[in-house]
Amino acid sequence: MGCCSVCGTELENGYLFSTKDGAFSFADEVPSALENARKAPGFTEVTSLRIGGRASVPAQMCRKCKTLLVRC
Ligand SMILES: [Zn+2]
Repeated sequence: MGCCSVCGTELENGYLFSTKDGAFSFADEVPSALENARKAPGFTEVTSLRIGGRASVPAQMCRKCKTLLVRC
């Protein structure tokens, strides 16, 4: 458990998950649809694609200011 780094409210444990069968990733900027996302500056794969289920990653959320804390 921890507290929100923005407003100090206690964080709730949960999961960040994809819609449909996509996978979440993180990068400095969101690459355009035609670009290879893996070549984007700072690219990090947050979840890998999971067939037949939702890709998910443990996360903590501050309900007060909607800050989401994700460890990958
Ligand atoms: Zn907060």
